[in-house]
Amino acid sequence: MRAFHQWLGVLTFLTAGLLDAAPLAVAAPPATDRPNVVLIFCDDLGYGDLGCFGAKTIRTPHLDRLARQGMRFTDFYAAQPVCSASRAALLTGCYPNRVGITGALDHRAKHGLDPTEETIADLLRARGYATGMVGKWHLGHLPPFLPTRQGFDRWYGLPYSNDMWPYHPEAKAGTYPPLPLYDGDRIVDAEVSPADQDRLTTDYTRRAVAFIEENRHRPFFLYVAHSMPHVPLHVSSARRGASKAGLYGDVVAEIDQSVGEIMQALDRFGLDRQTLLLFTSDNGPWLSYGPHAGSAGPLREGKGTTWEGGIRVPMIARWPDRVPRGTVCREPAMTIDILPTLTRLTGASLPVRPIDGLDISPLLFAMPGASSPHRALWFYYHQNDLEAVRSGPWKLILPHSYATVNPQAPPARDGRPTKYASAKADLELYHLVDDVGETRNVAASHQQVVARLQLLAEEARADLGDTLTQRAPTRARPAGVATVIP
Ligand code: MG
Repeated sequence: MRAFHQWLGVLTFLTAGLLDAAPLAVAAPPATDRPNVVLIFCDDLGYGDLGCFGAKTIRTPHLDRLARQGMRFTDFYAAQPVCSASRAALLTGCYPNRVGITGALDHRAKHGLDPTEETIADLLRARGYATGMVGKWHLGHLPPFLPTRQGFDRWYGLPYSNDMWPYHPEAKAGTYPPLPLYDGDRIVDAEVSPADQDRLTTDYTRRAVAFIEENRHRPFFLYVAHSMPHVPLHVSSARRGASKAGLYGDVVAEIDQSVGEIMQALDRFGLDRQTLLLFTSDNGPWLSYGPHAGSAGPLREGKGTTWEGGIRVPMIARWPDRVPRGTVCREPAMTIDILPTLTRLTGASLPVRPIDGLDISPLLFAMPGASSPHRALWFYYHQNDLEAVRSGPWKLILPHSYATVNPQAPPARDGRPTKYASAKADLELYHLVDDVGETRNVAASHQQVVARLQLLAEEARADLGDTLTQRAPTRARPAGVATVIP
């Protein structure tokens, strides 16, 4: 059988250093070789927004319980600090520039994730899984690119972000058409209203629980891509004001409640022990929204930058009896690793085309001595700018410009953002274990490390290109382009 079954035999203690918690004995694995997978993906949730990641004002009891029952990853990354690119990486196991997706696609996009790319849903469906999605798609809103053409049997949700919407306070009149809500290939609400947005998280949760119930007798993959806490913030009337942490706190508390309901459903149907539940976020907090943004905790900057606050995200994994309880993994990993890890755990095939992610199940199972399978993680942004490289504890910042909140501008208020200013990053080196906030550039005193990471950057340029140094990609694949526009 697969190698991970062998590992389970020796999984009776945990390595020091990798994990914080005391060693725990691990019971015999349940008799399933096709565990269910529930993947919950938040939008713009910050690294510091959950109790179990240090939040002080926002309470997240269900997510904290999830972390106590499973593993918390402290050094987990989204592939890029923006919605569409981040989602492309999650679902394909590739750097998003590998599959031609950059930035955030809006209603004018004629392109999307090429349907011939194999998503987690495609691969698990081929392995006999029921595949369902609720929530925000954002990988192309035209019919050839929708979730039901990308491996999902079912989908209920929005085609792109909830701010690409005529009612968003920042939207100039006429910028956006009405925002549609889909059920499968059908638009079931042609004009999402503010009241509809208030109900989104509740709606998604109800659909997620119904999917679990409906498919409880067969293996399933459920992808819950919350539209929240991306602005404009909306929450059900029952929860408005309930968190005592402002509207943003109410919205995160509602997501926490949603996770609790999904956990409860798994428990009710006796599926806990055969279900791997993953929770993470697509990028860091959108800081220009001030009180309507989350917190990056101790990290520098937020969404739209490759400083840690933009790309490092909270990540929790729970699989009772498999993922040791109450553990913490400090090894670097990325959303691109979820696909190859799931194919390993479920016996599904890897995609035919090359991917970038690597199997992190040894980390999940806290195998003795398990470490990050990556020599380096590369951080691209914008069109194809290679802005940073991480290897082990080190992060090399490559010279680039980035947007930072302008302290001189009037502050964000009532869901309207403040302004950004442009700032410049030089060639800078940070030791993330000693300096998670990227405050002390130690490039001058560690020139050999700088040289080594520059070589790693060069590897990425030779493969995926780099607009900052005018390098063309050699092995990137194009996005899909719709030939017939409806
Ligand atoms: Mg986002």
